Amino acid sequence: MADTSQHDLVIAGGGPAGMMAGLLFARAGVRTLVLEKHGDFLRDFRGDTVHPSTLELMDELGFLDEFLKRPHDEIRSLTARVANQRITIADLSHLPVKCRFVAMMPQWDFLDFLAEKAKLYPAFTLAMNAEAVGLIEQGGRIAGVKLADGGEARAAKLTIAADGRGSVLRAAAPLPLHDLGAPIDVLWFRLPKGASDYEETGGTFGAGTFIVQLNRGDYWQCAYVVPKGAADEVRARGIAAFRDDVARAVPDLADVTHTLEHWDQVKLLSVSLDRLDSWSRPGLLAIGDAAHAMSPVGGVGINLAIQDAVAAANILAAPMARGEPVDPLLAKVQDRRLLPVRLVQGLQKAVHDRILTPLVLRKAVLDTVPLPLRMFQLFPILRRIPARIVGLGFRREHIRSPEAAMSPPP
Ligand SMILES: Cc1cc2nc3c(=O)[nH]c(=O)nc-3n(C[C@H](O)[C@H](O)[C@H](O)COP(=O)(O)OP(=O)(O)OC[C@H]3O[C@@H](n4cnc5c(N)ncnc54)[C@H](O)[C@@H]3O)c2cc1C
Repeated sequence: MADTSQHDLVIAGGGPAGMMAGLLFARAGVRTLVLEKHGDFLRDFRGDTVHPSTLELMDELGFLDEFLKRPHDEIRSLTARVANQRITIADLSHLPVKCRFVAMMPQWDFLDFLAEKAKLYPAFTLAMNAEAVGLIEQGGRIAGVKLADGGEARAAKLTIAADGRGSVLRAAAPLPLHDLGAPIDVLWFRLPKGASDYEETGGTFGAGTFIVQLNRGDYWQCAYVVPKGAADEVRARGIAAFRDDVARAVPDLADVTHTLEHWDQVKLLSVSLDRLDSWSRPGLLAIGDAAHAMSPVGGVGINLAIQDAVAAANILAAPMARGEPVDPLLAKVQDRRLLPVRLVQGLQKAVHDRILTPLVLRKAVLDTVPLPLRMFQLFPILRRIPARIVGLGFRREHIRSPEAAMSPPP
């Protein structure tokens, strides 16, 4: 494992929040160690969305052209299918940015790319197979993390918890958590493209079902929404019954559901919606899902995680690089990011309670297009609103943290 002994900043978690923060702090000259519990970026479920706001950040960092050379698909609109009608609910083509699309890139490629760029700065270290299991406390401050192998990673100035929605560090701190409740879980599986020429990314509202299809070029990534805790019940009915449910809900997929042969092709992804009352205490800051676990609704959690990392670097990196104390500044990160988190979580909760709960839990049947969806048909300009929320979010961050020198090329 890499040297974990001498760093100003230790970041636990090499997901979108942790890797972007690692890149930006190291770029500013802060000696930064990122700890990732897995040996590669492939293991955990990863959403594959790289939002227009993140692509703008790539542009601000000078990486965009190189980044877009990596294989990816581009999603320019989102569609809902209800009562046999297709309704475009988000149109990204009007966004005031360079890339008016969501880039669908396997997240391990995205994280690898960030790691590759971060390694250009001598202040950056990435330790894989390094799991944080607790916090080191010294004189009332957090001074780093304890590792699963019995070692320690000491942080002279700051520890960042970017260890996702099951964060062990926020629990160890402990930072008080406000659970907003999530009535759903997701069954996640792939299906090949069949005979249908349907290509749109979006969701289909069936009789008591909601299935999201993400167009991944030669296959569909599918998310089947189930009531929280109901996955065992679905599994108990058998894979054949599940195939029938999928085919009934989305008839276009009926000719390919036979490829689902075993339950190990269908992963259960547990959904949470929560946020910390306080994202920091002296020596420790939580960002991304560790500070506010996001629902998959809208596919925006990665965007928020990255925006948190940029805000944290904007507020903290320059003072840290100058050797100034950062504890008095930590609350500013939460102050900056709380509004966008509250707004998005409020929208996600509304979708949980008003749409998914009646549909999936109470098995409501939609045989006509509900009025809010009909408005998108009648007034196409309205499609710009969800596009803006998904693509850019609220209170967009820009790179303002300084850049120190890179390592000379080998
Ligand atoms: C079913 C589902 C689907 C979703 N789909 C999308 C989507 O399409 N688009 C979207 O934008 N958002 C989506 N989200 C939300 C999104 O996944 C999160 O908001 C986002 O991943 C948060 O990023 P993060 O870096 O904070 O945490 P994570 O992505 O969870 O990354 C945390 C990282 O920390 C590592 N780690 C965990 N514990 C430790 C430890 N103790 N020590 C060291 N490393 C550790 C993990 O291995 C991981 O690499 C979805 C969420 C769910 C539940």
